[in-house]
Amino acid sequence: MREAKALLFEISKKGRRGYSLPACDVPEKPLGDLLPSQMRREEPLELPELSEVEVIRHYTALSRRNFGVDTGFYPLGSCTMKYNPKINEETASLPGFAFLHPLQDESTLQGALALCYYAEEGLKEVTGMDRISLQPVAGAHGELTGLMVIQAYHRSRGEGERNKVIVPDSAHGTNPATATMAGYEVVQIPSDERGLVDVEALKVALGPDTAALMLTNPNTLGLFEEDILEIARLVHEAGGLLYYDGANLNAIMGFARPGDMGFDVVHLNLHKTFATPHGGGGPGSGAVGVKDRVAPFLPVPTVEKEGDRFYMDFDRPRSIGKVHSFYGNFGVVIKAYTYLRMMGAEGLKQASADAVLNANYLMHRLKKTYHLGHDRHCKHEFVLSARAQAKQGAGAGDIAKSLLDYGYHPPTVYFPLIVEEALMVEPTETEGKETLDGFADALEKIAAVIEEDPEKIRMSPYRTPVGRLDEVKAVKDLKIRWKAK
Ligand SMILES: *Cc1c(COP(=O)(O)O)cnc(C)c1O
Repeated sequence: MREAKALLFEISKKGRRGYSLPACDVPEKPLGDLLPSQMRREEPLELPELSEVEVIRHYTALSRRNFGVDTGFYPLGSCTMKYNPKINEETASLPGFAFLHPLQDESTLQGALALCYYAEEGLKEVTGMDRISLQPVAGAHGELTGLMVIQAYHRSRGEGERNKVIVPDSAHGTNPATATMAGYEVVQIPSDERGLVDVEALKVALGPDTAALMLTNPNTLGLFEEDILEIARLVHEAGGLLYYDGANLNAIMGFARPGDMGFDVVHLNLHKTFATPHGGGGPGSGAVGVKDRVAPFLPVPTVEKEGDRFYMDFDRPRSIGKVHSFYGNFGVVIKAYTYLRMMGAEGLKQASADAVLNANYLMHRLKKTYHLGHDRHCKHEFVLSARAQAKQGAGAGDIAKSLLDYGYHPPTVYFPLIVEEALMVEPTETEGKETLDGFADALEKIAAVIEEDPEKIRMSPYRTPVGRLDEVKAVKDLKIRWKAK
């Protein structure tokens, strides 16, 4: 592979061009006639001068140094890219959507508003909730919106003193972080030996100061919270609300709905389960669904339908207000809607079934080689522990690096925190048996090498453009500017 080693600025050659235009056959206007001098720079802007192929090769080489779902298996548990069908790119770039301006008159936005309206209808059906806001633009943003809505609900009932949010120790890190951001005190409860919420500990934690319980079901161990109906009853009896972290709904879509389990508020990551590529930090959509009694507090505007007309309703006096400019990341909503319509009810159910089947297949193969903390039927993901390998001299982080040499993106490592040397694997529904077997073969091989010569794995990767990075330096001493000499 030819590597892009230099910056475009460094390979620039004075006078080289990526275009050739015919000679100008009209009188050229002096620049000063086009732009007043006080608006012009004094020195010409220093831009790299290159031919077209140089630019193409540079960017293509850069893109090949990256790892994505289009280049290989990507089993990054919890946060993985699921299926990103290419038709989504086509629908999202239809000129009628792509060239809209959010300040256009509502009468000219009818198609976009209809799409939001019907996306909400679809997501209501999938989650069993009564209303959905498409405004939040990330999972964590959806969590914050959801907790603000819960806070507004309690205050409206004169119960604003409820100041605690209960979070299990298996929770995604964003849950306690969000609760803190929303001004709550976080009460952490342990998991029991099944890897599920310890109901007795929950009973102790619940009280008149409970605002909400935040729960992921299946949890981050990939395990379904079997006692969910009992848990919901207990939280409601204590006057609290149930918050569902639905970032990874691909575990249960079409089979079970948070609304039916007793949840009052849920967020979805449309950029995970509903098919938007989300590498590199965006764009996302953390749509928030609520039950009727909490719906008046949703952000403004909501999208409503009256006869054949769609409109944005800003007249919602109990709303928490706006949580993002305009209507959120509309492009992601287009993709989610396309996905919903492409899959249909049966297709969504099949996607969950396949995701769960793939995870269980891999789990049963790999538990022979790696320690499996909770040997139970899993949902869309499972968590192995590399503690035996770590004792032999190479742990979860080393195994992750070594997998890169086999052409696989590593699983999530060292999360959830309750599993020592965690390797969290989410194969997703789109992978075939050969891919899963290839990945399992690689992990088995790595374990065998660790038994013989752990140093070899500790020094990996050997085949990537860069080896082990100084991750702290990369964060603290990031160089993103180029300066002309
Ligand atoms: C990804 C994820 C989140 C956070 O979503 P962001 O869009 O990254 O903010 C929250 N909870 C769970 C379980 C997740 O997997």
